[in-house]
Amino acid sequence: MTIVTTRRIDQLGRLLLPVEMRREKKWEKGDLMAFYNTDGVITIDLYEQDKERLCTVCSKPEYKLSVRDLNVCDTCLAESIRIVKEKRKAAASSASIS
Ligand SMILES: [Zn+2]
Repeated sequence: MTIVTTRRIDQLGRLLLPVEMRREKKWEKGDLMAFYNTDGVITIDLYEQDKERLCTVCSKPEYKLSVRDLNVCDTCLAESIRIVKEKRKAAASSASIS
């Protein structure tokens, strides 16, 4: 496990999440955070119910497009478009051969 940064707990028991960490994880003001205990190791992550903001395909917290009840990030959208184009190209070339 690697230490990314350190922070002191203040007199009221609060702990400030570093801005660079919040930006990287796309955690925003008002997000409900969950504390997990795995064999004594505490980790923090977005509460499961708040994960509806995540890309349905890859779980990245930065989806851009919602299609019905699916959220899709730029990377997965680009990959989907590439696959569709390849399939169309393959279908077109096999149609022109016969
Ligand atoms: Zn994705």
